[in-house]
Amino acid sequence: MLKEELWQAALAQIQLNISQANFSTWFKNTGILSQKEGEVIISVPNSFAKEWLENKYNKIIFNLLHSLDEEIKEVKYTVSRQGLKFLKKSSFSLPESDQLEFQELKIDKETNLNPRYTFENFVVGPFNELPQAAAWAVAKDPGTIYNPLFVYGGVGLGKTHLLQSIGNMVIKSFPEKKVKYVPSEKFTSEVVTAIKNHTMENFKTKHRETDVLIIDDVQFLAGKEKTQEEFFHTFNTLYERNKQIVISSDRPPKAIPALTERLRSRFEGGMIADIGYPDFETRMAILKTKAQEKKINLPEETLSYIASNIQRNIRELEGALTRLVAHQKLNNHPLDPEATKSLLKKILLSPAKISTPKKIIRAVAQFYDLKEKNLFDSSRKREIVRPRQIAMYLLREDLKSSYPFIGRKMGGKDHTTAIHSYEKILKELETNENLKEEIELIRQLVFSV
Ligand code: ADP
Ligand code: MG
Repeated sequence: MLKEELWQAALAQIQLNISQANFSTWFKNTGILSQKEGEVIISVPNSFAKEWLENKYNKIIFNLLHSLDEEIKEVKYTVSRQGLKFLKKSSFSLPESDQLEFQELKIDKETNLNPRYTFENFVVGPFNELPQAAAWAVAKDPGTIYNPLFVYGGVGLGKTHLLQSIGNMVIKSFPEKKVKYVPSEKFTSEVVTAIKNHTMENFKTKHRETDVLIIDDVQFLAGKEKTQEEFFHTFNTLYERNKQIVISSDRPPKAIPALTERLRSRFEGGMIADIGYPDFETRMAILKTKAQEKKINLPEETLSYIASNIQRNIRELEGALTRLVAHQKLNNHPLDPEATKSLLKKILLSPAKISTPKKIIRAVAQFYDLKEKNLFDSSRKREIVRPRQIAMYLLREDLKSSYPFIGRKMGGKDHTTAIHSYEKILKELETNENLKEEIELIRQLVFSV
């Protein structure tokens, strides 16, 4: 296997295990400089990236390379500008959609939209019918029907895809309209910069001239009051001028802690639509669409094996496919069903997919916007008691931890507290649909924190 191919295959897999943002930050312009006598030297563009790869990602890089080529015994990193050249020169290339490098180049600077996301390649099923129909209606006639449109759902279920599809359709049908797609973290950092540089007026003008403003992952605005205030003003100005606002979040407005009341009620004034989990048929349809995009043929049996095993995250569904495709291309022949299974088992059981007490605690804290140590306090405040009970529930339910262990993990509580918490949540789940949904969202987070 050529070193370029090896690195492409490794990158394809790394991308599945870390966030998109981390991937593009740390793996951009990297390549394999040399490979001999079991030692691989990876070129990185700067010493900062070198440090990160060495300290944070060495293990995963090594494991992946080793799994692709058993001869590899050691990985080293060196600063060099050659990485990019390697990638571009490489004769082997992954399907375009997997090449973040090139994908990023295509993102429109003005609108921030990625043309890859369209309604045409968005598969509709019972789980996303409503948000899709609402999004379509909004794109056909922005600013009139559902304003704002608020779409929520768990990680990797198509929120960004749907939001961007609206933007892409609007610029196509109404070239004169100004569309802006802004991840809410970007909105926040723009506000911070504008305040620091005394350029708030520019910032305001810029956003208020927009016809369609799309803010992705709005839960990240929680707790950032100044940003929320600016957003509120922007929102009102646009709303009064009948401009379209589209928002996404990983949970409904009422479940975003530290969202100012007036912003929340603004969100609730429009259309709220949630994306659930795709059923088996839709998962199959998505896999087929993606396989077609990647110009690859896979037996029905393989697709159905993937669709049966990955149920809650479309990004992972796609990731499994990417991995198979990479494998198939590297080995130059289709995988038989047995080999497919064993390869997929590795993905499904990779460390990132295994839940641990630490991950559960971190996910619960993140979901409720608390510090991990808050969960260990003895506070009786509901904002804390509830998340603490949910953490204990998950420790029991998903990890089968013993009650004394759970008590200890949660800041030295008595085992009876653990029993009580578990049973309380269990009972409530029988009747409380919202709680069920909340816990599912946390489970999703467990795998991404
Ligand atoms: P989210 O923003 O909810 O985390 P994304 O929109 O980033 O999820 O979707 C994750 C991946 O799954 C993307 O590559 C996207 O194209 C794909 N995807 C999600 N939903 C669908 C769908 N209904 N049809 C086709 N692809 C989808
Ligand atoms: Mg997203």
